[in-house]
Amino acid sequence: MLEDKNPQKTSLSELGEFGLINHITQHFKVENPSTIKAVGDDAAVLDASEKQTLVTTDLLIEGVHFDLSYMPLKHLGYKAVMVNLSDVYAMNGSAEQITVSIAVSNRFPLEAIEELYAGIQLACNTYKIDLIGGDTTSSTKGMLISITAIGKANKEDVIYRNGAKETDLIVVSGDLGAAYLGLQVLEREKQVFKVDPNNQPDLDNYTYLIERQLKPEARKDVPGILKELKVKPTAMIDISDGLSSELFHICTQSKVGCKIYEDKLPLDPQVISTCEEFELDSTMVALSGGEDYELLFTVPIDDFEKIKGNPNFSVIGHITAENQGLNLVTRANQEIELKAQGWNALKGD
Ligand code: ADP
Ligand code: MG
Repeated sequence: MLEDKNPQKTSLSELGEFGLINHITQHFKVENPSTIKAVGDDAAVLDASEKQTLVTTDLLIEGVHFDLSYMPLKHLGYKAVMVNLSDVYAMNGSAEQITVSIAVSNRFPLEAIEELYAGIQLACNTYKIDLIGGDTTSSTKGMLISITAIGKANKEDVIYRNGAKETDLIVVSGDLGAAYLGLQVLEREKQVFKVDPNNQPDLDNYTYLIERQLKPEARKDVPGILKELKVKPTAMIDISDGLSSELFHICTQSKVGCKIYEDKLPLDPQVISTCEEFELDSTMVALSGGEDYELLFTVPIDDFEKIKGNPNFSVIGHITAENQGLNLVTRANQEIELKAQGWNALKGD
């Protein structure tokens, strides 16, 4: 998803609000039969059907959630959609519509908003999502993006955070920690660039990490894979803040404890080598890194045969009684208590 560096700049004031809205929304196609009316009226119209509706929102603020010095706008648009779709998939639903609201200062020309919407559109096309509305307003300084995703699921398929039971297995999709390390690499390059703008970074050893940070993919495939395996998780959550933090949510809401095993945590080889280089503990990074957008779920122990050896999943531990607390069993077979640190906590180190 390389940037098309367009040197042309069109002031947003030339277009006006309605011109801008029309310009950025005109090429979006409707894909889902449940979308009756998308952009263009006072409100979008959706066909409710007999299923349950899932709704989720995220707000992203420049300087807090993203840094445009290394986050290309197209990637930002794509990622902003992924963050929301991930929440719908974590309910075991299918995502169908989004609304996108933006606030931009006149520091941004039209071409910047086009880049942002190119990323949003790529996400919509890839994941078969309809853009059905939003709001456009000005801000005094930075950029702000708020996306709401709407999805649906059969009542009996919805998976909450509160259903985990003692002896259930704890399973995670994909691998952990790469997105956080990607951010560390990008932050380091930003500092190097500040000192010497002619220094061309060599990022070959970090391609996977940077991809995971700048272009994460929501796990749309997981609900389907689970259905095929005839496995219904008892609880599920997506990993946005970090494994520890998400385990806390599941355990607190399910009133259980858990035990996970250090040697079972799925790590990409680039995560291991980059942790060595940055002198970071790869287990800490996997536990507290965040932004992986993988799914964390619990399944009845009887489903072990169906899950084990599946390349999409790693069984990392099991659910215990509430009074056992949350624990990590280290490679040296020591038990340590897990702390609910999000990635911000790690960032502060
Ligand atoms: P209103 O004045 O009723 O708020 P707007 O003029 O803001 O309506 O919006 C007109 C249409 O364009 C609506 O369908 C709205 O949902 C849609 N829209 C506005 N801003 C955006 C945006 N940034 N992205 C996508 N759709 C938008
Ligand atoms: Mg409006």
